[in-house]
Amino acid sequence: MSILGVISGNLRKRKITIRFPGEVPHPDTYRGAVVIDEAKCVCCGMCHYACVSEAIVVTAFGDRFVWDYNIGRCTFCGKCVEICPSRALSQTSDSPPPYAEPAEVTGSHAILYPPCAECGRPALPITDTVLLKAFKEIGEDIASWSKLCLRCRRRRYSKGLAAGLKSTLGRDMKKPE
Ligand code: SF4
Ligand code: SF4
Repeated sequence: MSILGVISGNLRKRKITIRFPGEVPHPDTYRGAVVIDEAKCVCCGMCHYACVSEAIVVTAFGDRFVWDYNIGRCTFCGKCVEICPSRALSQTSDSPPPYAEPAEVTGSHAILYPPCAECGRPALPITDTVLLKAFKEIGEDIASWSKLCLRCRRRRYSKGLAAGLKSTLGRDMKKPE
């Protein structure tokens, strides 16, 4: 066959290669970059302790919590996702893009603490997912305690204790007739 015959034969064939930047197929269980859902994070820092590569660094301030992730250090093991008590972490189902600058491999998220329902000072957030790990159901009482800062929780607890003690002592001190 002449060269022209080969060329015309090839032109009639369908494409059998994927042109750049074609989609790379990933299996369903593929573990890509770690992403955080800030609304679900309870600022516990467990992901930092679980990460042996030190890809996650957390810093707690008086009014916020900063979650830093360095994908350049991440081994995509999934330990942080597994250990997160509030299911705030997940892994993307595709591979990370190529990075041009070192600064591109790091990401920072600041989570502002919500105000305490009683005093208005910043209070550590807590979510229903975490509460349901400790209690069977979230009644009004538990919901209201969960919206308080540590100081107001202590204050409410002490008031309740004092009231209980007073009523108990009052009953005990009554002389039998
Ligand atoms: S997937 Fe593994 S290496 Fe990556 S941040 Fe989570 S714990 Fe660290
Ligand atoms: S383990 Fe989860 S809830 Fe705790 S700091 Fe990390 S992302 Fe937030």
